Amino acid sequence: MILVIGSLNMDLVVRTARLPGPGETVHGEGFATLPGGKGANQAVAAARAGAEVAMVGRVGSDGYGEQLRQGLQADGIDCQAVGVAEGLPSGLAMIQVDHASQNSIVIVAGGNGALTPAHIDAAEGLLARCTVLVCQLEVPQAVVGHALQRAHALGKTVILNPAPASALPAAWYAWVDYLIPNETEAALLAGVPVSDRASAEAAASALLARGPRQVLVTLGAQGVLQVNAAGARHYPAQAVQARDTTAAGDAFIGAFAAELERGGDVPAAIAYGQKAAALAITRDGAQPSLPYRAEMG
Ligand code: ADP
Repeated sequence: MILVIGSLNMDLVVRTARLPGPGETVHGEGFATLPGGKGANQAVAAARAGAEVAMVGRVGSDGYGEQLRQGLQADGIDCQAVGVAEGLPSGLAMIQVDHASQNSIVIVAGGNGALTPAHIDAAEGLLARCTVLVCQLEVPQAVVGHALQRAHALGKTVILNPAPASALPAAWYAWVDYLIPNETEAALLAGVPVSDRASAEAAASALLARGPRQVLVTLGAQGVLQVNAAGARHYPAQAVQARDTTAAGDAFIGAFAAELERGGDVPAAIAYGQKAAALAITRDGAQPSLPYRAEMG
């Protein structure tokens, strides 16, 4: 079983010809509420990739919270440990997108910010039962640190996607088996610019020295760079016509975790993750774009 401890957000997406400046009002052309949040996206990606998945998180006591839980349950995800933070809104992303695909986004943590280490302890049964833990950084840092430490102590396979980019406490690295940043996140964590495969390898090697078992840097259309004690290996991405790259990283991580959990080796899991990401970017949106196992051959 894969346990995802992380965020659930409702994305409120408005399309407009041009983004408004301060004090300005413009007409929107369309509006959609779409379930998202990195934690929920990765949980859905793993479930659709064929894994048994449970999630620990917090939604608000509003209608969106119920919708977010129901969406995960429709994908067969165990949501018993997705609680309701009374008096708070659900996590929200207010997203404006213009005709040039430029966007401006305001994120409100809402219920996600109310997740505490005590909620992780209350879900000890799930932590004990899982084989793989997946975390990101959209819930409070104290929660993520506690989850990584507990899972590592229990001998679980620990995956950390350090997104959105933020410096990590030094102690965390040794608790992580697979650290999976994108180029921006790798650059911020390692403190060196990342613009190509060579600089990604330098950043990943610096991160590996801090203690994780492996570092996988996702390089967008350039694929994935794996760095471990044996050296570096590059896996090219599938050649596809990208339409909407939202949640490419989430698709990769969920499917990678699913393949690893059913016993695939790391190269197979990377290949599977890249297949899922390639399909996801040919479709619009975050969760609606995530592919099912039957589509992935
Ligand atoms: P994030 O969405 O977190 O920024 P990336 O952009 O690095 O992550 O994408 C994650 C993975 O998705 C890549 O490693 C690759 O496999 C796939 N991917 C992303 N963009 C493309 C693309 N344009 N063509 C093919 N694959 C892509």
